[in-house]
Amino acid sequence: MNKNKIWLSSPHMGGNELKYINEAFKENWIAPLGPNVTGFEEEIKQYLNSENIEVAALSSGTAALHLALILLGVGRGDEVICQSMTFAASANPIAYLGATPVFVDSEADTLNICPNQLEIAIKDRISKGKKPKAIIAVHLYGMPYKVDEVNAIAEKYETPVIEDSAEALGSTYKGRNCGSLGDFSILSFNGNKIITTSGGGALITKDIKHKNKAVFLATQARDDAPHYQHSQIGYNYRLSNISAGIGRGQMEVLDKRVQGRRNMFQFYVNLFRDMDGIKVFEEPNDLFYSNHWLTVITVDENITGGVSREDLRKCLDSENIESRPLWKPMHMQPVFSKDPYYGTGIAEEMFKNGLCLPSGSNLSDNDRDRISLAIVNCLKN
Ligand SMILES: *Cc1c(COP(=O)(O)O)cnc(C)c1O
Repeated sequence: MNKNKIWLSSPHMGGNELKYINEAFKENWIAPLGPNVTGFEEEIKQYLNSENIEVAALSSGTAALHLALILLGVGRGDEVICQSMTFAASANPIAYLGATPVFVDSEADTLNICPNQLEIAIKDRISKGKKPKAIIAVHLYGMPYKVDEVNAIAEKYETPVIEDSAEALGSTYKGRNCGSLGDFSILSFNGNKIITTSGGGALITKDIKHKNKAVFLATQARDDAPHYQHSQIGYNYRLSNISAGIGRGQMEVLDKRVQGRRNMFQFYVNLFRDMDGIKVFEEPNDLFYSNHWLTVITVDENITGGVSREDLRKCLDSENIESRPLWKPMHMQPVFSKDPYYGTGIAEEMFKNGLCLPSGSNLSDNDRDRISLAIVNCLKN
């Protein structure tokens, strides 16, 4: 095959990343601390533009979730509620701590955690003798979850929310930035996200004490002493000053990247406007503003004339175009199959019929032509 691969989501550099890396080399800040780490944290904080938030730059979004759970005191035998339809990294840190994830279904408007099922789950866990220690809610594919509804339940049951905003930097809910809407929030700068540090993440806290504790734990929990002394188990989770340099270059173009992803979304809205049986998944109303990290469609083969989601995925694949079914819900994953789940099958239905399409901000007109030709031909045959 001589056509270049079109990826679902690939890194898109802005141009100034190397400038920040060169500064790090010049000053010999080749370490998990330094001016780029501090600068990157400050720039994220400015971007999120929220009162009283603190940002700790870390080696991954997964590390940020792990530390958030530790700061909330989650340990062996505890239970933590987690949106079922998400990437495994939302749930894995619960297992790292010997706690049990309790999975909750999605609702159809945003594909994110269903407030009704969330309350049913909390009540049932309490009646079984264990109140969940936290709720992990996810803005999947950049679409904000129903923040007010989820927060109302969290307050009613006095259960903190960890906002998994790994896919949603640049999205807003009621004009407020995703990444600043939980008791704790996390971001990811993995290579496939809207901006990248090649690998990295951040924990956002509402309290400087929490940030300081997170940084302490992320740098091997070293007590204040001339020798190495430890009274707690630590982690090696800080972001490197080189990676943070990439992040600073990326922050300069974040708004452009959001616009680029939203343009891809609009391209798909136009492409599918007159195609029966394919629905592009959109914001439910104007309280929600998605960065459209990935554009999602659902395929109804009863209306497409028999073309299923898998047919479409295979057509694209044969043209060297990557697409991917929606994330397989955690309660359907072999590794989590024994854990509790509350739902009515919405995530399962979306997993069956949903497809993520190439959404990168760096796709060219030629790439878009190849994508639309492949889709049109597939639906014709
Ligand atoms: C990518 C991702 C994570 C984990 O982030 P990493 O930086 O890759 O560890 C967590 N949750 C969701 C929803 C993600 O998409």
